[in-house]
Amino acid sequence: MIKGEAVVTAVERISPTFLRVELGGDDLADFGVDGPTLDQRIKLLFDGVMRTYTVRAVRPGPRLVVDFVLHLEPGASGPASRWAATAEVGDRVGIIAPRRGEFFGGIEYEPGDAARILLAGDETAVPAISAILEQVDRDVVGTAYLEIPSAADILPIDAPAGVEVRWLPRDEARYGAELLAAVQAHHELRVPVGALASARPTDLEVDPDLWETPRYSSSGEEIPDEPEPKPGDDLYVWVAGESRTVTSIRRHLVREVGLDRRQVAFMGYWREGVAMKG
Ligand SMILES: Cc1cc2nc3c(=O)[nH]c(=O)nc-3n(C[C@H](O)[C@H](O)[C@H](O)COP(=O)(O)OP(=O)(O)OC[C@H]3O[C@@H](n4cnc5c(N)ncnc54)[C@H](O)[C@@H]3O)c2cc1C
Repeated sequence: MIKGEAVVTAVERISPTFLRVELGGDDLADFGVDGPTLDQRIKLLFDGVMRTYTVRAVRPGPRLVVDFVLHLEPGASGPASRWAATAEVGDRVGIIAPRRGEFFGGIEYEPGDAARILLAGDETAVPAISAILEQVDRDVVGTAYLEIPSAADILPIDAPAGVEVRWLPRDEARYGAELLAAVQAHHELRVPVGALASARPTDLEVDPDLWETPRYSSSGEEIPDEPEPKPGDDLYVWVAGESRTVTSIRRHLVREVGLDRRQVAFMGYWREGVAMKG
């Protein structure tokens, strides 16, 4: 594993919400993973405070591209977004990242033999979904729903032709409302309207560390030893974003649609009103 310091080599405001930062430096010389980076996560350290980000792309050098969501509203900003907002070429940041040839983990996208994929996320998951769609085989089929603050945040993604990319500008709506509605209306998963749970999860029902994947359960759910999909389980679902939204989507897909936990990865990337533990 690389545990060192990265140097900012480029900064680009790519939309009102996203700031693209390129990181390089000697400590990243041995960066590498065995295969595509997909939703590879890394840790960045801002004056000792640790936050998790996604490798959006790897450029020659190697240089890592990280797309930061700028959330700078009073009371809703944190050390990472504040650092990004003023980042300049030459600035330094602590980094924990995979070293070539060593196991690091941190890639959750594992569709196995699924015939189709469904990816759903908010702006914090846009870098991961974009990287996944740009790196998967060109014959992959499915749908991606991306909730973003406004239409001005729509970014180009080189997705396979068989993947429909649907951008969902939030505008004045509540965090996650558009994303949940899109997943509930998704043609492959639709259940009768009467069966839809309408109540938002209460604070107590939102797992602050929500991370439910075929290999790990933050709530301690039993993980089957032999993850063997049932016949007909040909859809793989990957969901990431604000924890209350992800909890609502999880409730829908597991309780109402009845998806097997082995077909899905639900990841809380951040929690509205709560600073991440660093
Ligand atoms: C695996 C993984 C990958 C991630 N990849 C990315 C990525 O590529 N790009 C990215 O921008 N984020 C990404 N995130 C999310 C990021 O780690 C969080 O948004 C984190 O809280 C940002 O830290 P902070 O110091 O800015 O805010 P914190 O100190 O954690 O929080 C301070 C306040 O800001 C609010 N807040 C935090 N994030 C947001 C937000 N996005 N919008 C509005 N309010 C917010 C909190 O609710 C809190 O009130 C990822 C998270 C995980 C777990």
